[in-house]
Amino acid sequence: MERIVIAGGGIMGSCIAYHLALAGAAEAVTVLEPDPTYEFAATPRAVGGIRLQHALRENVEMSLYGDQVYSAFAEHVRGGKVEFGKAVESIRQDGDDAPAVVRCADGSSYDFERLIVTTPQPAFAKAAGLPADDTVWKNQYLGATCFVLELDRSAIPYYWLNINEPDFPFLAVVEHTRMIDPSVYGGRHILYVGNYVERDDWRFTTEPGELLTRFLPYLRRVNPDFDASWVQDWHFSKAPFAQPVVTPAYRALIPAHETPMSRVTLATMAQIYPQDRGQSYSVELAREVTASLGLR
Ligand SMILES: Cc1cc2nc3c(=O)[nH]c(=O)nc-3n(C[C@H](O)[C@H](O)[C@H](O)COP(=O)(O)OP(=O)(O)OC[C@H]3O[C@@H](n4cnc5c(N)ncnc54)[C@H](O)[C@@H]3O)c2cc1C
Repeated sequence: MERIVIAGGGIMGSCIAYHLALAGAAEAVTVLEPDPTYEFAATPRAVGGIRLQHALRENVEMSLYGDQVYSAFAEHVRGGKVEFGKAVESIRQDGDDAPAVVRCADGSSYDFERLIVTTPQPAFAKAAGLPADDTVWKNQYLGATCFVLELDRSAIPYYWLNINEPDFPFLAVVEHTRMIDPSVYGGRHILYVGNYVERDDWRFTTEPGELLTRFLPYLRRVNPDFDASWVQDWHFSKAPFAQPVVTPAYRALIPAHETPMSRVTLATMAQIYPQDRGQSYSVELAREVTASLGLR
């Protein structure tokens, strides 16, 4: 059985592991992920619920099936290995027949027959030592910031509010407990305040407590009664490489799945096109990449 390493354990890496498991190769798979909390990954930032209201019965059935798959995910991928605390720092392969070698920031190393890299492109370009003019360096990404506020009452009468005011420091306010009953959260009302920003923007770099203070006046513009005392607790997270920036030249900049190293494949969110990247497209791309490798 080939030894297969997957770098990055977000939805893309997890789904590749899932498809390999379906093909009976779970025992051969090791997923390397730096962060057990997924604090800086895009995957846990997604607020998409599993939508059940559709005009067609087939779509409802598909959503219900998705729910079953998510709920039993751990059973589907049983047998493989996930190693946390593993940030891939270098990837090398000396010749087509040689095994490729991954070194991690903690000093560990792995050799393997296949490596599938699902990290953001810059992490791959750096680890693979790609020259500065390589296409893989060219795509730009925005970061994302997310506050989750636990409130003692409802803040907006809607589930999802997009904000298009240019002077607002955030672009979406989602009251999760307009969809899921607050009793699930001990009676608290859960408000998600999110944005996409450049990584050097003050909204990305400011210390979270201060950032929240600066956001509060804007929440009062959304709801003039809003008061800081409503916030019982809060959580903040940010992902540095959350959204590829799609320019008119984007299509030409999408890197191939094949890389200069014959045993190394790139399967990353920036390759999702022309759709905006999203979890279901990651699932599909993961399926295609696994199939193209002849591993299932
Ligand atoms: C704020 C926000 C809201 C969203 N809402 C939705 C939504 O409602 N519906 C929807 O479908 N999609 C949504 N998305 C998009 C969706 O979350 C992403 O398209 C998807 O999760 C990308 O998955 P991924 O595995 O490619 O990336 P990631 O989840 O970012 O996974 C990449 C992984 O690589 C790891 N990594 C990084 N560097 C290294 C390294 N050197 N070595 C090893 N591992 C490394 C990271 O820790 C990370 O876990 C949203 C995204 C954001 C940011």
